[in-house]
Amino acid sequence: MKRILFLIIGLLVAGAFTQVHSAKLNVVTTTTMVTDMVKEIGGERVEVVDLMGPGVDPHLYKPASGDVVKLQRAKVIFYSGLMLEGRMTDLFFRMARAGKLVYAVTESILEKDRLEPPEFAGHWDPHVWGDPILWSKCVVTVVDGLSKADPAGAGDYAKRGKAVVASYEAMKAWALQRIAAVPRKQRILVTSHDAFNYFGQAFGFQVVAVQGLSTVTEAGLADIAKTVDFIKQKKIKAIFVESSVNPAAIERVSKDAGVKIGGELFSDACGRAGDIHEAHGEKYDVGTFVGMIKHNVNTVVDALK
Ligand SMILES: [Zn+2]
Repeated sequence: MKRILFLIIGLLVAGAFTQVHSAKLNVVTTTTMVTDMVKEIGGERVEVVDLMGPGVDPHLYKPASGDVVKLQRAKVIFYSGLMLEGRMTDLFFRMARAGKLVYAVTESILEKDRLEPPEFAGHWDPHVWGDPILWSKCVVTVVDGLSKADPAGAGDYAKRGKAVVASYEAMKAWALQRIAAVPRKQRILVTSHDAFNYFGQAFGFQVVAVQGLSTVTEAGLADIAKTVDFIKQKKIKAIFVESSVNPAAIERVSKDAGVKIGGELFSDACGRAGDIHEAHGEKYDVGTFVGMIKHNVNTVVDALK
């Protein structure tokens, strides 16, 4: 009898043990850039449920009822922040007040490093990931948030976080080398919306957007005419459409200015996970943050050099 009792206790303990170790930390993320970072840092310990897939515009994204269920189930929520997910911000604030662990990954970016374009006085430019080094400052928020929810994994998260920072640093060094092929005078990036201010600052490009900082307002005829004049005056070789923004305005500018479209850039979302691109003898998955920036840099350099 005693032996059977021990056996039962033993099985129960083993069962509880395996359950603890197979249950992953349930984390919900918003944009694909945030998702990629959290997956890289969380590794095997974390189950990431993403709300916004490739091609999704976070400025316009409205949470579906299924999203609210996912958010309620989550142990931790990471979003990009600085009002990028304009229509979800209230929901995140409410959940944080209710005691959920909710983090804007950009909260660890110092105010002095944030851009505040004059035409949007009072609002920070949320497109921080355009500068890989600045984006790497968000890693600490993810490491801290995961560690708070899962203290046993803290060492692992810290180690993986360091590797993520190193990979972003290496990618920036690679990008600077590629961009050196474009003469300084030709470093002008014309796109649909103002997603590339940080990219421009990091890599020495003047950035011109047909429509403003957010995609909520559409480009007007005056914006289009102004951009056409600018392109002709500067003899710009190519302009770019964005994967998560309606290309109509850029297509119109391209036609009116007689300038070619140099390709599609990933602005507010990475590409499809597992979509491998090859350029200059190198392969990369555009569904990852590193692959996304590599694609953008190669597209811009090849069109403007
Ligand atoms: Zn944007």
